[in-house]
Amino acid sequence: MTTATATIAAPKTLIIQRATQPQSIAETLELAKVSVTGYHYRVDFGLGVIPRIHHVAKDKTCSCDLVKNCPAIHAVAAYLKAGGERAADPPPGYFVTKPARCPQCGAPTHVDTRLSSSIRGIGWTCEKLGSVHYWNTRGDILRENFRVQPWLFPPAVIRNGQYMKAWDGIQPGDKVLYEGLRRMDVASSMDGFAYGYLPENFVPLE
Ligand SMILES: [Zn+2]
Ligand SMILES: [Zn+2]
Repeated sequence: MTTATATIAAPKTLIIQRATQPQSIAETLELAKVSVTGYHYRVDFGLGVIPRIHHVAKDKTCSCDLVKNCPAIHAVAAYLKAGGERAADPPPGYFVTKPARCPQCGAPTHVDTRLSSSIRGIGWTCEKLGSVHYWNTRGDILRENFRVQPWLFPPAVIRNGQYMKAWDGIQPGDKVLYEGLRRMDVASSMDGFAYGYLPENFVPLE
């Protein structure tokens, strides 16, 4: 019985150990099973490859330690080239995989499934401040969402003689029928929750 071991360049290694036959990386890629899972691709290298399962996001990063250098990314590229099903685009602010580095401080991150949800995606913590920087990042995403789409219900106005929903806000000269409701006002008026707390936190986990 022979054992083949191959390694891939920095930063870390993917270990290929086939008990029955030597196997090159090219062969490993050929044998990889790729499927769509939610908003990303799941790559199964099979027994003998450690780690066996890889999760590749649409931004061509893998959730394993190899991040952008993982061969699983090539397996996904080959799968798509062969006409494989494409993963759907995630909603804004959804973490398909954990970020390789904390967006707040740059420290390495770790998956924390207690923070995961069907709306926010994968939860993670950073090595410097744990979940604090995760929630700071969620706050940044929420503020950006509010900036891009501030209205929960847009104002209803008569503008130039026409009834319309004023997604661009009330303009000078508008006859206002309904002043609208801003998403930020709903979030900040929840008792006991400071601005920046996430309303989607109330959605039950899947
Ligand atoms: Zn990987
Ligand atoms: Zn951090």
